Amino acid sequence: MLQVVKGRMLQAMHKGLSRQTHAQANVRMLPTYICSTPDGTEKGDLLVVELCQSHVRTMWVTLLGDGNQSPQVMYKIFSMPGDIMQGKGEALFDFIAQCVRQFLAGISSPQHHLPLGFVFPFSCRHTRLDKAELISWSKGFSCSDVEGKDIVQLLQSAINKQELYHVDVVALMNDTVGTMMTCSMAGKPCEVALVVGTGTNSCFMAMAQQVEMAEETSGQMCVSTEWGCFGDDGTLSDILTPYDQCVDEESSNPGEKRFEKLVSSLYLGEIVRHVLTALAAEKALFIGSNVAVLRTKDVLKIQQVLEIIDNEEGTAEARRALEALGLRPSERDCCRVQQICQAVVSRAATLCAAGLAAILSHMCQSQELKQLVVNVGVDSELYRGHTRFGEILQSVTGLLAPECMATLLPSIDGTGWGAAMVTAVALRLAAQRHEVDQVLAPLRLSRADLQRVQALMRQEMELGLGWESNANASVRMLPTYVCGTPNGTERGEFLVLDLGGTNFRVLLVRLAEDGIHMASKIYIIPTTITQGSGEELFDHIIECIMDFQLKHNLTEQVLPLGFTFSFPCQQLGLDKAVLLSWTKGFSASGCAGQDVVQLLQEAAQRKQHLGLKVVAVVNDTVGTMMSCGYDDPKCEIGLIVGTGTNACYMEKMQNVGAVEGDQGRMCINMEWGAFGDNGCLDDIFTDFDRLVDEKTINAGKQRFEKLISGMYLGEIVRHILLALVEKRLLFRGKPCPKLQIKGIFQTKFLSAIEINGLALRQVRAILQDLELQASLEDSVLVREVCQTVSVRAAQLCAAGLAAVVEKMRENRGLAQLAVTVGVDGTLYKMHPW
Ligand code: ADP
Repeated sequence: MLQVVKGRMLQAMHKGLSRQTHAQANVRMLPTYICSTPDGTEKGDLLVVELCQSHVRTMWVTLLGDGNQSPQVMYKIFSMPGDIMQGKGEALFDFIAQCVRQFLAGISSPQHHLPLGFVFPFSCRHTRLDKAELISWSKGFSCSDVEGKDIVQLLQSAINKQELYHVDVVALMNDTVGTMMTCSMAGKPCEVALVVGTGTNSCFMAMAQQVEMAEETSGQMCVSTEWGCFGDDGTLSDILTPYDQCVDEESSNPGEKRFEKLVSSLYLGEIVRHVLTALAAEKALFIGSNVAVLRTKDVLKIQQVLEIIDNEEGTAEARRALEALGLRPSERDCCRVQQICQAVVSRAATLCAAGLAAILSHMCQSQELKQLVVNVGVDSELYRGHTRFGEILQSVTGLLAPECMATLLPSIDGTGWGAAMVTAVALRLAAQRHEVDQVLAPLRLSRADLQRVQALMRQEMELGLGWESNANASVRMLPTYVCGTPNGTERGEFLVLDLGGTNFRVLLVRLAEDGIHMASKIYIIPTTITQGSGEELFDHIIECIMDFQLKHNLTEQVLPLGFTFSFPCQQLGLDKAVLLSWTKGFSASGCAGQDVVQLLQEAAQRKQHLGLKVVAVVNDTVGTMMSCGYDDPKCEIGLIVGTGTNACYMEKMQNVGAVEGDQGRMCINMEWGAFGDNGCLDDIFTDFDRLVDEKTINAGKQRFEKLISGMYLGEIVRHILLALVEKRLLFRGKPCPKLQIKGIFQTKFLSAIEINGLALRQVRAILQDLELQASLEDSVLVREVCQTVSVRAAQLCAAGLAAVVEKMRENRGLAQLAVTVGVDGTLYKMHPW
């Protein structure tokens, strides 16, 4: 049955969390906007005000940032005049503000800015930590003009009326949340709390994205379950006893708070009383006594019930209590009354356990954990000093949620201390947010910044195209001698070489009616060869071709060969390309300044390979544009975002200064990775970019590429993370030796971490592999850093592309241009967005 109750609680919780069903939910799962537990670095002076049943408690707390080991606390209790609870709302808040003024006057506090946390133990609809509307009064309060109003504002205005302008209400929370925070120690966070007093409620740290009523989507948020109303829709009717029905009918709110009426201390004595009444009527108890007294409400106090259940002294206590009521219990009566009290308290404990097990299983599941290890703060008069309730709660929770290991922690200091922690944490988070924003601000580009980048790219393109200005341009705008794009009718069989990406490949491509057929083989080129002599390199390439031809029975044929050679080349014809410089780790000697087709032919001769007919040398951007163009004739731009970045597009011949002739178009290999090498982007570069650049083999070169491409994004992130650690904003400032290693944070991690909806646990696991012990908050921050760097890369790439499409549109004198961009590169393909 308890398993069933747990299941129903889980259902009710889901109903409360979902935006669609929230309005009808009994378990309302109210967001609290508390997104973190204390980490021990909190420090400063804080004020706490706690509104209690019959008094107001004010508290001054000084935190020293020492793991909250030695907080200094002063407090004062003000009893509340009885009429205030049912009077005007204004009078209530004026009274609270006066308490604050008197308290501060009494301790001659300094007049510096003083943050205040307010414990307000009623159901509120939060929209921020410091903005919360009262949903409805309870616990005997019914002040006018407060329901539906923002409590923080009411208190702040009352405080201002007292001319305490330095006091700033920064957080409002209920007592359950206060308990959770009270039990949180540095390095030992408490993420669940349970309050079972005159009422009952619980709260826990949920994954923010599941709390649909709040806008937060990353990290955690504490949710106040408001589980006292569990069962108000009838879900508990099959476990309610006739005694519970009587208790409910006699209560001030029949039909409401059904769960609370089964577990909270206000009702347990009443349940026992109804059981005794029923048994006495059946003559099973108190034979010969006048039992009329049992008809009086509240004659049995919870304190008595708790003392009666004590095994040793219990029966004696039962006798005392019963005799005080004028009953004349026999020895057997006393034993039975003890059994009844035990049954009622045990049931309360097991029901709380079912609720707690639901919370724990929910947490375990939503964090995708196999096992959840968690601390649970408990504030309950049933728990304090009475082992039975706690033992049952612990053991039954274990049985109902065996996948969770919960440690119950009794709350000692009440909720005020917890409120101080909430307030301190809120301030810490605000200060940290400010610092994080400062670190990341230079990486966040405005629309105006991007428009400037676009304009600069356009300017550099014009310089690069001009015959005379080319030498001063950072974007080289190399002619490719590719003068048309495919229309899809091209047919034939071709041999292809692909050199300059991550792998060297040889391919056989057949363009046929029924589609494109390809066979390919990857050949490893050892570094000794890529960095050896040019002759060795090209000899090796020929050997690979011969091996491929042998494997595919092509030795007898002379197929036209296309060569994708992705290094900057000065092309003098479609089949004539002079290597300007090696990049991407190649450095074979004697090649720069040479025609690579010539180098290939010479190697073929050396190897006595006679059937080689090189028709075209193209860059990878051109290859990408052409292959996409085969399917889509509108594809007139090629873009690469992989290890490096580059683009090409179809330019009007008229504009191509380096090549004679004005007719038609030619594809231009922009080599845009070098954009900014002349200093024009200097104000976009951040200190992180400069650190990354300094450590590359081509410092000061390929500056645009170093903001965008796969070889660098991980490094940028790594440097930002180091800076955040240094500022103690990440990993609690603990040094991370692994993070010092160049290249350790690979760009593929960005892709993994940024996947939408990825559980933070997985982010944590990725970081764990780097020996980074990330808390959930750390994981959220790392993800934000990755996103910031990726967004900037994509935006800069877009600004460059915008310059290209605008130029093409103007070239053609169109108001609107429809064009397709063929894109390749692992970063583009693998990054989630
Ligand atoms: P190339 O540009 O050399 O032809 P690729 O297009 O395959 O090669 O790109 C390789 C680059 O892609 C690597 O530098 C690496 O940083 C990056 N990369 C690899 N895997 C991923 C991934 N999952 N997400 C983002 N980038 C990746």
